[in-house]
Amino acid sequence: MADHFDVLVIGGGVIGLSVAWRTAASGLRVAVVDPAPASGASHAAAGMLAPVSEVTYTEEPLLQLGLASLERWPAFAAELEVASGHDLDYRTDGTLDVAFDSDDLAALDELATFIGKLGLPAQRLTGRECRRLEPMLAPSVRGGLLAGGDAWVDPRRVTGALLAALERLGCALIRSRVAGLEASPETVTGVRLATGESVGAGRVILAAGVWSGALEGLPPEVLPPVRPVKGQIMRLRSPTPILQRCVRGVVHGSHVYLVPRGDGELVVGATQEEMGFDTRVTAGGLWELLRDARELVPGVTELEVADVVAGLRPGTPDNLPLIGPTSLPGLSLATGHHRAGVLLAPLTADLCSGEADRGLSAICSPLRFQEAPPTSPTPE
Ligand code: FAD
Repeated sequence: MADHFDVLVIGGGVIGLSVAWRTAASGLRVAVVDPAPASGASHAAAGMLAPVSEVTYTEEPLLQLGLASLERWPAFAAELEVASGHDLDYRTDGTLDVAFDSDDLAALDELATFIGKLGLPAQRLTGRECRRLEPMLAPSVRGGLLAGGDAWVDPRRVTGALLAALERLGCALIRSRVAGLEASPETVTGVRLATGESVGAGRVILAAGVWSGALEGLPPEVLPPVRPVKGQIMRLRSPTPILQRCVRGVVHGSHVYLVPRGDGELVVGATQEEMGFDTRVTAGGLWELLRDARELVPGVTELEVADVVAGLRPGTPDNLPLIGPTSLPGLSLATGHHRAGVLLAPLTADLCSGEADRGLSAICSPLRFQEAPPTSPTPE
């Protein structure tokens, strides 16, 4: 066996890198294995840290996780900036949800009531007040809701910073694909790389995003039930930022959001498509994004197109992530973060190093999908 680590993380996206950083900082010998770190969904993500404005009423456990992670973000960002020497463009100016008609306004009122019940800051605004905050908004915006507690960050800077911080801690980055797990009869002992080499580890954490469900050598009941949810997204560029905060709205029945960066980049996202592992950027996808973004902020069509990309969100049957030990000794999961992997990265890192409370661990436990098949009733 070539080498042996205390912890080996499969996958170097925002999740695997965050978990590795927290684990390595505690003094353990850690390796991350990934043929192309930071190239998956984390490369596509907009970086909204918006559990409140993204909430749907049927997803309260997800909201609980999101709020617990949002609370961790200020310290996580500050520590990571110091540890890496990188600026993350972490911003806390809130999200402005805007409405165009009376149905949208009624939905915003309901959201305001819900947010108020949670004790979180939310302010209902008239159309004029919205435009005073964001002068580039369309004149047809009739009102809005400012979720002042929401934040955002540049996920590409986050993964870059995590890689730098890991290097400073002496964490190994093995640029290879994991072909399968290695196990003794009792426990997972490491991984087999695509090159044929073996790497040993006391504990393996599978954090390969949407590819986590396809790893060889896992018993079927342990394989995480993740599915790809495609998202097309574009990055526009202007010499100076045209918005001060994240702006969201529902146009033609679909959600669109605009996320401004400090350097003038404006992220416009994102489609949600069940298309398997297809990552083609399509003319129709981009057209929908631009058509809807122009309704919110007409000036977007003047901006330069900097980047278009499609990423695969790792969706799960109940939209909750899978974080924690599996029924296979030595193997933990940190995957299935669907639309919220950037938001949930600090919490995931804490859950994997045992630093989060049990109630939150229980919500994410992979064991909820790993129960033994029901036995047939005994005849009386
Ligand atoms: P990934 O980033 O996909 O990383 C998985 C890694 O595993 C990859 O680097 C890959 O190379 C590696 N890998 C795969 N197979 C193997 C193998 N066999 N061996 C070794 N390595 C392997 N979330 C938010 O919180 N806020 C947002 O605003 C937001 N916007 C989004 C917009 C879009 C368009 C998309 C697509 C997603 C968005 N998300 C957002 C969701 C977020 O991007 C994901 O939840 C998150 O990136 C998942 O991170 P991950 O590390 O699990 O997976």
